[in-house]
Amino acid sequence: MSSFLQDPVDSEAILADIRGLVEIESPSRNAEGVNRVLEAIVSFFEGTGAAYERQQTTPSLGDILRVRCDPTRDEPGVLVLSHMDTVHPVGTLAGKLAYRREGDRIYGPGIYDMKGGLMLAIAAFRRIAHARRRTLLPITFLFTPDEELSSLASRSVIEREAARHRYVLITEPARNGGKIVTARKGVGAFVVRTRGRPAHAGANSDKGRNAILAMAEIALEIERLNDRTRGITTNVGLIEGGTARNTVAEDCTIEVDLRFCDRASAGEMEARILALKSLRPDIETMVTGKITRPPFARAGGVDLIFERAATIAREIGFALESAPLVGGGSDGNFTVEMGIPTLDGLGVDGDGAHTNHEHLLFSSIEPRTRLLQGLMERLE
Ligand SMILES: [Zn+2]
Repeated sequence: MSSFLQDPVDSEAILADIRGLVEIESPSRNAEGVNRVLEAIVSFFEGTGAAYERQQTTPSLGDILRVRCDPTRDEPGVLVLSHMDTVHPVGTLAGKLAYRREGDRIYGPGIYDMKGGLMLAIAAFRRIAHARRRTLLPITFLFTPDEELSSLASRSVIEREAARHRYVLITEPARNGGKIVTARKGVGAFVVRTRGRPAHAGANSDKGRNAILAMAEIALEIERLNDRTRGITTNVGLIEGGTARNTVAEDCTIEVDLRFCDRASAGEMEARILALKSLRPDIETMVTGKITRPPFARAGGVDLIFERAATIAREIGFALESAPLVGGGSDGNFTVEMGIPTLDGLGVDGDGAHTNHEHLLFSSIEPRTRLLQGLMERLE
């Protein structure tokens, strides 16, 4: 019998390690927090024979950690890809999203996206290492600091590393009852700025040109770009503008998120957003941004690795399903674009990613640790 089925899984011990990671707050722009997560991860690999190297990104971001589980083997193997950053600002843990357990649900910032899944993959590998088993292919882990910022600093490292591997496993959270991810939408990120003319709101309001007002109209135009039938969504997620209540606002800035299903709509929507312009007199409009992740299409290689995973899941005792097209992007969008068979959503089951009700399901720890271990042992 294969070891991923045999050895008991100590879900409480794995949860204790997950808790340790969740209690280090690591929003993407907090390099210190992300690097503390990185150091905790290094300690999890102690005694397994793995070799690690740390690579700096930019001064404002945390480092990248690469762990080679079989440092003596050079053939293309399995790359496990995880991110260490979260979207939750420091203070969330002591405030809106304290670590807590309510029945099967365990809450905490980043516990579902994706510290839970990250830890399951390490736990799966440690089970293999402690049993002194040799996997068919060498395993490498890559931990990145900026996935929630579209991986701008780590993308080239991810792509270089993925090119040396035969398969990519991504520990993003599972969807809707444990479904894994075999297709994701692409993502674009844009900044729109309007500049008008400041004036005293009482004395000289006719001389002013209000950048916020102009932007409000542009925001409505962006809302109208949503097209559910084509799977296109846009969202104005951030806004900033003006200097005082009684001043006609000179500047306004918004950040816009775009999601799409295919390359054709990517090009079309990118062009439409870059062409946004206020029609009000004396208002300047500036748009910057681009497509940051290509769509992750379910291609031949993805089907093959999904079938392998489904077989392993059946042996463990559950039916593995893939989620319908997922709106969130991941680093899997890059590796699928490169033609490397990639499975995503292998992390914990739960819900509430990026919200204050983010939680994992304790009952998902055991089967998904076994699934990850099975993939590491069986992929060839
Ligand atoms: Zn994530």
